[in-house]
Amino acid sequence: MVFFRSRIMAAILGILACHCAQVGYAQSPNQVGYAQSPNIDLSKVPWMDVTLSPDQRADLVLKELTLDDKISLIHGQGQANDKPVTDLSVANGADGSVPGVPRLGIPMLQMAGSSYGVTTNALNGRYSTALPSDIALASTWDNASACRYGTLLGRELHAQGYNVSLGGGVNLARELRNGRTFEYQGEDPILAGILIGNRVRCEQEQHVISVLKHFALNDQETGRSENNSILNNRAFRETDLLAFEIGNSIARPGAIMCSYNAVNGDFACENKTLLSHILKEEWGFSGFVISAWGATHSVAKASSAGLDMEQPSEAFYGNPMKQAVLDGTVPLSELNEHVHRILRAEFASGIVDRGFPRSVPDLEAGYKTSREIAEKSIVLLKNEKNILPLNRANKQTIAVIGLHADTSMISGGGSAQVDPPGAAIHKWMEQVWYPTSPLDSITSKAGAKVSFISGTDSVAAAALAAKSEIAIVFAYQWTSEEMDLTSLTLPDHQDNLIERVAAANPNTIVVLETGTAVTMPWVDRVPGVVEVWYAGNKGADAVANMLFGEVNPSAKLPITFPISDNDLPPPGIVVPPAGDHSIYHPKGTPTFNIHYVAGLNVGYKWYDSQAIRVLFPFGFGLSYTTFKYSNLRLIQNGSLKAVFSVTNSGQRAGDEIAEVYVSLPDDAVEPPKRLVAWSRFGLAAGETKEVSIPIDSKFLSIFDDTVDKWKLLHGDYRFFVGGSSQDLPLKQTIKLPQ
Ligand code: BGC
Repeated sequence: MVFFRSRIMAAILGILACHCAQVGYAQSPNQVGYAQSPNIDLSKVPWMDVTLSPDQRADLVLKELTLDDKISLIHGQGQANDKPVTDLSVANGADGSVPGVPRLGIPMLQMAGSSYGVTTNALNGRYSTALPSDIALASTWDNASACRYGTLLGRELHAQGYNVSLGGGVNLARELRNGRTFEYQGEDPILAGILIGNRVRCEQEQHVISVLKHFALNDQETGRSENNSILNNRAFRETDLLAFEIGNSIARPGAIMCSYNAVNGDFACENKTLLSHILKEEWGFSGFVISAWGATHSVAKASSAGLDMEQPSEAFYGNPMKQAVLDGTVPLSELNEHVHRILRAEFASGIVDRGFPRSVPDLEAGYKTSREIAEKSIVLLKNEKNILPLNRANKQTIAVIGLHADTSMISGGGSAQVDPPGAAIHKWMEQVWYPTSPLDSITSKAGAKVSFISGTDSVAAAALAAKSEIAIVFAYQWTSEEMDLTSLTLPDHQDNLIERVAAANPNTIVVLETGTAVTMPWVDRVPGVVEVWYAGNKGADAVANMLFGEVNPSAKLPITFPISDNDLPPPGIVVPPAGDHSIYHPKGTPTFNIHYVAGLNVGYKWYDSQAIRVLFPFGFGLSYTTFKYSNLRLIQNGSLKAVFSVTNSGQRAGDEIAEVYVSLPDDAVEPPKRLVAWSRFGLAAGETKEVSIPIDSKFLSIFDDTVDKWKLLHGDYRFFVGGSSQDLPLKQTIKLPQ
């Protein structure tokens, strides 16, 4: 069952909540935005001394704040669509805002969605770059691309007057039908954590506060505001939490967004184990915890659990919090701690010192970045008979088939939705097709006639395919926040379309524009399959460059593609009992449980552990060249590294992503293998390179529940190296610890 929730209804309810609460802060006349700089002498106030640490500066400001000031800093003032959008001092048109303290030089916080671009909720977001979706970034396995992605987002946020980025999604793909899989970094915690860490690190270097989200176990959208996600502690630490732990240690994000759902009994935004014990105490997180929009459930419980800021409104952290502090239900020290963390993040990110010089986003630079990252993210899944790359000199006639393939490519929906130049302004839960035309891009490179048909009539499409030498079917799968897929089957009878086209033309190539995996009942009948994800606003050029060989594909899957829905790990999408499930009417307690019984076996670990054959494995992706692996040595010299050689054994230059997996000693009782390291590098035709990859001992460890600590077990560790999780020609066993 698919659940659609109305954001518009949510917004309406948000307005009501705001008016009912009758809290004065949001309307306070002394609020100004950064556009109206406060008139204070910065040289005289001690907290503007940049030689002091962010903590010291935050403490100095804290001493100057009244109770009302403090309360005003810990909650939002409604979403932009609750307010007159022309009033930029209130919300700048985006997801949320927090008033500053102008007399002290503390700026407003202006928050915009930025999963794969600055979102359209932003009033000025009409001119944002739409990057390839987050799962596409994960397919690059490339820290440099992750950094470039974050840098662009940070710049565009800044240019448009935002200082808080709400991107940074890193929930693990435990359930591939989760409608937000496109916003995340795949199924492996180490890959996901390292990539998101690099993305957020570089985004923050542009002087914005970035979040990691949604903390934690928000692994399906259905009933997300009322489910209780249940997972045993060890599995939690080694899977979903590990991705956050790594991301936090690399990026040191200014904020972490707690999720809608409950985790092992308590809602994430009032879960002391998660927010205080694990995140703040154990991981040393020094930023602030911000609620997902409408995910706050209480005052005292949330506050003592470690929630620092409620968004987008003030139902709990406005007047009720003030009363709770006045009557002692919430200690003042706790409120001070929330405020300290928020101010600390503001100083640490530089937003207090640097202000907000707005500018016009550099669209040309954005286009280039978007295309180049897309080119690194396209996964070549099948290439029989060397159907690819296409050769202009062969002057083959081409049929381009697929809905909107003459004009545009699909994008992912929800709060992540971006409106790049030329795209229509979208409504919530509406498919948005970006103006990047596969037909035009292919036509510009083809040496002969290119024809187009939408494919809604599969018989007509097959007839066109039969008359052409090559048929390229652009198939799509739309996904969004607030919904899950019922199946990984392509929608709208596209399997039937592909079957018919393939029957009419043996040279059929399927290009998949999807947010997650799809099943491919036709896979044996087509020679070419390419996964391009949601490819961003220059996707068509990237795809054409790859199809015609100007770009040699190099990406690898960050998720497994199963053969059938039946192969997916339990429990599947769990559906709540009937009733009102609207997000802005959160229940006091969770209404249903999701038992994540697959535990440690997320993604490939599930298929490995059950010996289930898959369609395309995790880490898999072809190139137009081939690579040979040889001579593995595990070298222990204080630290551990894997050293081996890779040869480009084909005819053209290409990038390879070499992957290192390990099987832990038997008494660890772990899935058969886990990814522990990888390296992405380029090789000229015929070139051999010695690759040396350091291996972090934490990634070889298990989480020992009995002592609540990571532990490296004694025993034999079997290492495997190769080009995919199922193509690992090099092996060596070593004893650890040294
Ligand atoms: C989403 C978050 C998003 C926030 C603001 C929430 O509903 O789950 O991912 O950042 O809204 O749009």
